[in-house]
Amino acid sequence: METKDLKVDLLCLGARVSGVEKGRKAGAGPAAGGMFIFGNTVANVPTQSWFVAQSPYHLDVGNGTYILKRDGERITDVRFPATRFQELKTKESIPYYKIALLHGMDCLATTTIQTCVYWNTPKRCKFCAIELSLKGGATIAKKTPEQLAEVALAAKELDHVTHVTLTTGTTATPDKGINHLAETASAIKAATGLPIHAQFEPPEEFSMIDRLYDSVDTVGIHVESFDRTVLKEVAPCKVEIPFQQYIEAWKRSIELFGESQVSSYVIAGMGERDESIIEGSKMLAELGVYPFIVPLRPIPGSDMENDKPPSPDRMRHLYEIVAELLHDTGVSWRKCKAGCVRCRACSALSDFE
Ligand code: SF4
Repeated sequence: METKDLKVDLLCLGARVSGVEKGRKAGAGPAAGGMFIFGNTVANVPTQSWFVAQSPYHLDVGNGTYILKRDGERITDVRFPATRFQELKTKESIPYYKIALLHGMDCLATTTIQTCVYWNTPKRCKFCAIELSLKGGATIAKKTPEQLAEVALAAKELDHVTHVTLTTGTTATPDKGINHLAETASAIKAATGLPIHAQFEPPEEFSMIDRLYDSVDTVGIHVESFDRTVLKEVAPCKVEIPFQQYIEAWKRSIELFGESQVSSYVIAGMGERDESIIEGSKMLAELGVYPFIVPLRPIPGSDMENDKPPSPDRMRHLYEIVAELLHDTGVSWRKCKAGCVRCRACSALSDFE
């Protein structure tokens, strides 16, 4: 089985794991999973959602080795990234793992503001779990620039982290959390020099994106779905932002950061047709934006916890077509300096390029 096919299987079906850390339970991004390194890639594999019980994949643990099996038959060895920095604490005794985590093979990731203005309203995104990890005590509500600079330096020195992903819950202010991202990125840059990725909602004032230019290398502005009917159902807050505002924010960001340095999550499996993903990704690639296509990840505790990810066959079909589109435009994960596109644990599109 080719590595890219195995990665798609694992992203969509998950793996049953016994006897090892199964990954954090909730959060803004890809919670309830583990980072599996195999072949020349890394996958953020669901290990706790309900559908994992039906997966043919199982991780066997023994004597410090991890063997992935399918229906009991050995497929490949799996490694896990080192996370020594996560065992440290700040002066105020806040464990580093509550401030930032290792994602993929070598990416430090954090949600700078772990609350969202939409969370306690009917407008919140149904796939999101941002405030659940806060409730569960796994993180703190707002990370200061100083705390993140300290953790990033340790992650670089102890675990060879090479880039940083910063995301944020949307704030009630017009900057939508961008100001705090900018201050945080500046502090991390000054302490480590690492390339930094920042993710945010498109602001009404595009000049706010300019604030990130000095300290941030790549940005993510996430459409989630090109199907407005689907978006209205699963992310009512996002459908209120005119699609044109996304396009203008992507264009402004491309001008600032360059081709392949701007990305957008596109979630497959929320009720949209293949054409919506393919045509939307084509439009993004033609702008120079990387369509970071991921299968829906139903996180336990989120409003979509009982949903099922799309089938691996559907994802392979989408990845094959969109990888061709990327070739035509020159947009590629290999050019991207930081963030999810460079990490690539949550999407197998890079493996099909
Ligand atoms: S792709 Fe992004 S969200 Fe997924 S593990 Fe990597 S940095 Fe985290």
